[in-house]
Amino acid sequence: GGPLPRPEQTRVMIVANQKGGVGKTTTTVNLAAALALHGARVLVIDLDPQGNASTALGIDHHAEVPSIYDVLVDNRPLSDVVQPAPDVEGLFCAPATIDLAGAEIELVSLVARESRLQRAIQAYEQPLDYVLIDCPPSLGLLTVNALVAGAEVLIPIQCEYYALEGLGQLLRNVDLVRGHLNPKLHVSTILLTMYDGRTRLASQVADEVRSHFGAEVLRTNIPRSVRISEAPSYGQTVLTYDPTSSGSLSYLEAAREIALRGVPGTAGQAMPDVHD
Ligand code: ADP
Ligand code: MG
Repeated sequence: GGPLPRPEQTRVMIVANQKGGVGKTTTTVNLAAALALHGARVLVIDLDPQGNASTALGIDHHAEVPSIYDVLVDNRPLSDVVQPAPDVEGLFCAPATIDLAGAEIELVSLVARESRLQRAIQAYEQPLDYVLIDCPPSLGLLTVNALVAGAEVLIPIQCEYYALEGLGQLLRNVDLVRGHLNPKLHVSTILLTMYDGRTRLASQVADEVRSHFGAEVLRTNIPRSVRISEAPSYGQTVLTYDPTSSGSLSYLEAAREIALRGVPGTAGQAMPDVHD
């Protein structure tokens, strides 16, 4: 129990992995809700045209709703599009609508096309402890905008065969963005998701990820849980859908770890060599 320390500066965490179905959206919304329940003010930015994070937070995102598309493409202030989440105090969301699918192409011809999200977040005047950005499963301009907008990359890894496949490409992109656009960028957090402790495979994958990464990997794993997968269809996170479930408790614990360890140092961080 007890409230968690709040960061001195807003921590912008980019939830990325260009593989689909690894738990990016699930982690974004549940970690955001967990941090808010621990007393933080948290903004979720839905950067996936599917809008799954908006849905899971119970946020209206039909085609006419002001959305992150308007922010990125039409310079609309973030404050115009942010909505409070209905169920959790201190939790907010900038929703994605279907027109975000076109933004990937529309951004190409705009000035400062890589830093439009960064500028929008910097201009946002409401106090925030955390911004969590749910990335699409690709490494295009939307994800580049996310990588420019914050310092911390959070990679959810599904405890399955080929868990590390494709990660090398993401890590190289993180290196490129750090080298050219955002010197503060680093992988701060790895979270193992859909962990089934009864299988040898899950523990083998967990061991492999821990030996590749080490200190970035949270001690808490997220279990595979039906309650976690059911919650979005009720427009809820698992934290309100089933507060005492193992999924809920694990996201609360992951949030606690993230808050307590603060922003890990970035000096001389060597990226592990992941083969893919
Ligand atoms: P991504 O955003 O990376 O594509 P999602 O978060 O949408 O991945 O998760 C993919 C699918 O797996 C969804 O149907 C989601 O409900 C389910 N899922 C995610 N995490 C868990 C979990 N811990 N236990 C059970 N199902 C999960
Ligand atoms: Mg997703």
